[in-house]
Amino acid sequence: PHIVCEPCNNCKYTDCVVVCPVECFYEGETMLYIHPDECIDCEACVPECPVEAIFHEDNIPDEWKNYIEINAEKSQDA
Ligand code: SF4
Repeated sequence: PHIVCEPCNNCKYTDCVVVCPVECFYEGETMLYIHPDECIDCEACVPECPVEAIFHEDNIPDEWKNYIEINAEKSQDA
């Protein structure tokens, strides 16, 4: 799946949410999360993100690898 990483914090745009065909974005307190079982890896959200916060899980920069777990947890809480 695709993963929302740190730059999303306090970003107020939801351009990514609008283009997602399966509505798998969930809103947390300060950022959005993608539900890993619902994302179909269509990539539509990636170019829409103004802060380049969204990566395929195989391409996440090392310092944000922990967001794989955070997205899984938080998207299920939401
Ligand atoms: Fe939604 Fe596609 Fe982005 Fe996954 S890659 S979150 S399915 S828009």
